[in-house]
Amino acid sequence: MVCQQNCYYCGLRRDNANVKRYWLKPDAIVELVRKAQEYGYKTVVLQSGENDVYTITDMQCIISKIKELGLALTLSVGEKTRLEYEAYKQAGADRYLLRIETTDAKIYEKLHPGMSFKNRHRCLIDLQELGMRWVQAV
Ligand code: SF4
Repeated sequence: MVCQQNCYYCGLRRDNANVKRYWLKPDAIVELVRKAQEYGYKTVVLQSGENDVYTITDMQCIISKIKELGLALTLSVGEKTRLEYEAYKQAGADRYLLRIETTDAKIYEKLHPGMSFKNRHRCLIDLQELGMRWVQAV
C-alpha cells in the first residue's frame, strides 16, 4: 500500500520503511474484482493509502467497470477533493469509508502530522452532501 500520509498509529505510514509497497494497474484491479464476482461475492471494498497514483479518469473507469459487474462498491481511498468525490459518485460508487478517530481538532492533528481536521471535516460533509453513504470504521 502506497501512502503519502504519516498517521502515528498506522503501520502503513509513509515513514515505515519495513513495508513492501505496491500498487495495481486499473485493469488488474477490475480483473481481481471479476474473479471475486465469479466466487459469488456481491460487494467489494477498494482500499488504498492516500496517494495520487490513480487519476480521476482511472478511478471512474475502475468504478464503472466494477458496477457493470453488478457488485456493490465501497471506496476507502482517503481525503480527496469534492470534484473527485463527485466523479466517484457519478461513476457509481455506493459507499465511502473515511475514519475520523477523534473530533478534538488538536488531538486529531497531533495524531496525523501534516493533516488538517478542517479538511477531514470538509471531506465528510462533501460525502454526505453528495449522497454517498459513508461508513465510520471503529
Ligand atoms: S492515511 Fe490511512 S494508510 Fe495512510 S498512514 Fe494514515 S491511516 Fe495509514
